[in-house]
This record gives sequence, structure tokens and C-alpha cells, in this order.
Amino acid sequence: MKIIVGGGISGLWLAAELKARNILCCVIEKNALGQGQTLASQGMIHGGTKYALDGSLTKAASEIGAMPARWKQALKGKGTVDLSYVQLEREDQLLWSVESIAANLLGFFASQAMRSRMERIDPQFEEAFNHPNFKGHLYRLAEPVLKLDTLVYAFAEILDGQIFQTEVTQLLMQKNKVVGIETTAGQIHGDVILTAGEGTEALLSELPGTYPAMQRRPLAMVVCKLAQPIPKVFGHQLGSGSKPKLTVSTHDFDGAQYLYLGGQLAEDGVTQDDNTACSNAKRALSVALSWLELNVESTHVFRVNRAEPSTREGNRPDTAFVYQSNNLIVAWPTKLALAPALADQILPLLNGDSKPATLPVWSKAPEGHYPWV
Ligand SMILES: Cc1cc2nc3c(=O)[nH]c(=O)nc-3n(C[C@H](O)[C@H](O)[C@H](O)COP(=O)(O)OP(=O)(O)OC[C@H]3O[C@@H](n4cnc5c(N)ncnc54)[C@H](O)[C@@H]3O)c2cc1C
Repeated sequence: MKIIVGGGISGLWLAAELKARNILCCVIEKNALGQGQTLASQGMIHGGTKYALDGSLTKAASEIGAMPARWKQALKGKGTVDLSYVQLEREDQLLWSVESIAANLLGFFASQAMRSRMERIDPQFEEAFNHPNFKGHLYRLAEPVLKLDTLVYAFAEILDGQIFQTEVTQLLMQKNKVVGIETTAGQIHGDVILTAGEGTEALLSELPGTYPAMQRRPLAMVVCKLAQPIPKVFGHQLGSGSKPKLTVSTHDFDGAQYLYLGGQLAEDGVTQDDNTACSNAKRALSVALSWLELNVESTHVFRVNRAEPSTREGNRPDTAFVYQSNNLIVAWPTKLALAPALADQILPLLNGDSKPATLPVWSKAPEGHYPWV
């Protein structure tokens, strides 16, 4: 039996790949499916373009480059994971600048690799940008934005009967090897794959020996509730730096519209108090989308950590990360988009089960909700 600890995108994608190969597995989730970083994310399937804003295609940009096509296959119901029921927020993402292109962005737009992925578009064809006061440049990247609640729902359907709600309290050891899990509902034995995001650190800390260290990179996302809806925006405002100034996604809940704001704004907000972060967000929005009538009713900050393998400088790791020690695998995708690449790395490491196994009779884990609303 393969025991997957954590029902975020990495555990769910891997479990679906195993199911497609008739390999028995269960997913153990302590709260609700997707309720960690997965439903907190902006659902953008990046192909690496936003990592190449300085004009150079880094290692990160080249590995992640294959992911949009991989997801699109799954979204069409082709390939081993069938995500044909998943809805998209948009089929593409927008990139825009509000002023004339800064010097260090010229390299980016000149780069052949980037030109092939992006298309300059006339603002009149984009409702949110079709305004005489929009004076910048607008680009379209053919990389989808997922409706994340439908993504979690699709995996819950695929894995019906294999997803359980209970907290893993420790890993079971025999002769210095991990042989299963102890949970609040009982024990099960099998090969253990830790895809528990931030929760992986505590589980590893109880084990004798040395295991990969984890880092947290915090974000202070800002949520703006609008009094009147605007045409929906999903994309990145480019500035003069090597990261998008602002990443905007637009969501409707209970008859109200919300802007969920990330990018450099959310990195800068980490060291600010909530009031300052909200004021800065409103100021940034009034520049980024100055031509729209933005009537912000309320704002709040949603603080969340990205859980990743430690890097020397605490920077973003370049690729999906997998570590194996006997029957234990530790995995962090580092990006939602990289979940398929993570599963590709794990699958060849798994051995067949030596004994027949049965699934536990535990409660089913429910599907999570967007944690920031
Ligand atoms: C604000 C934000 C925006 C982002 N935007 C994007 C984006 O647009 N595109 C992109 O590609 N990436 C994005 N990311 C990154 C992406 O969200 C993460 O890399 C990805 O979701 C990690 O998935 P995961 O399954 O490894 O972890 P998680 O989604 O965190 O799942 C881990 C699960 O393990 C469970 N768990 C923990 N401990 C235990 C335990 N002891 N027992 C049982 N269960 C346990 C948790 O409850 C949780 O559900 C974003 C991240 C953040 C924070």
C-alpha cells in the first residue's frame, strides 16, 4: 500500500497517477482537501515566463515550461489524469505594463523564447483594458488559470473511497526504516509519501537521522472586496523589477466580487502590518488598473506560507523536489503547476507491494474551501 500524507495538489495528482496504474494507495488529509497552499494559490499554471522577466531563461523557467501543455492535456481528458470536469477561470493570463517599457524589460520582450510564448494584443479585445486611459502594453500568455474548487472536486471524484480525514501524528519505524503511519484514527502500514506541505517538517523532525530541511517563504496576500464588479482580470502587472509588481485574480462569491492580490506586493507585505499592507495594495491597484472604476468596499490581509525544500539563500527552489530513503519519500512541488513533474519523479521510485493490502475504514476527507474569503 502507498500511503500519501497530505491532500493538496501534490498528493492528489500522485494518487490519481497511481490509481490509473492500478497501484493501491490512500490519501490521508488532516483537514479538508486542498485547504493548505493549494486553495490559497492563484491557480495560475505558469510556463516560466514570469521567471524570465530579466530576459534570461533560467533553469526554473525551462523545467516549468513543459507544464502548461501537460495540464492542458489533462484538462482535455487526455493522459493518465482526467481533469476534463475542471473549469477554467481563463484559458490564458495577461501581462501588462502601465508605462512605457522599462529598459530591463526590453531583454525579456526581445528574447526569442519569450516571444514564442507571448502574443501582443490590442487592448480593445480585452474588456478590462479597452479604455482610452490605458496607455501601456498588453500581452497574452496561453497558460490557463484554474478554478481551484473544481480542481479539488475533480480529484475527490477520481479518488472516491481512497481519501481519508485523519491527522498523521507520527511515522512508524522498524529497524530504522519507516513502515507506516500513526494517525488519530489508528495505524496503517505501507510505503509513505509525504506531500504534507508545511506539515512535512514536523513529521520528519520526530525521525532519527537527517532528512531534507524545509523553508517557509511567507506571503501577505491582499483581498479587496469590490462594491461594484469590474471586468475580470487574471494576470500580472509588469514593473521594472524581475518579478511582477502585482498578480491579480478576480473571483465571485455570494454575489460579491473580490480581487486577490499577489506578486511583489504580497512579498513586500510580509514585513508590514495589516493596515499598511492594505493601504499599499489600494495604492498599487489604483496605478495598475487606474482606468477602471474601482470601488473597494473592504480589504484584508491573508498571510500564508509557501512550504519548500530549504535553499542556501532562502530563495525560490528551481524545480519540484523529491527525496527517498528506503520506504519513505519526501516531496514538495514548489509550485502548483509542477505537480505533474513531481509525480513523474516519484513514480519510478515506487516498488510493488510485497503483501496484499486493504484500505482503512475511516471517514472521508471533505473538499476544502478558498481559505482567504
Ligand atoms: C498565496 C499563494 C499563491 C500561489 N499561487 C500559485 C500559482 O498561481 N501557481 C502555482 O503554480 N503555484 C502557486 N503557489 C504555490 C502552490 O500553491 C503550492 O506549491 C502547492 O499548492 C503545494 O501543494 P502541496 O500539495 O505540496 O501542499 P498543500 O496544498 O499545502 O497540501 C498539504 C496538505 O497536507 C495536509 N497535512 C499537513 N500535515 C498533515 C498531517 N500531519 N496529517 C495529514 N495531513 C496533513 C494539509 O492539511 C494540506 O491539505 C501559490 C502559493 C501560495 C501560498
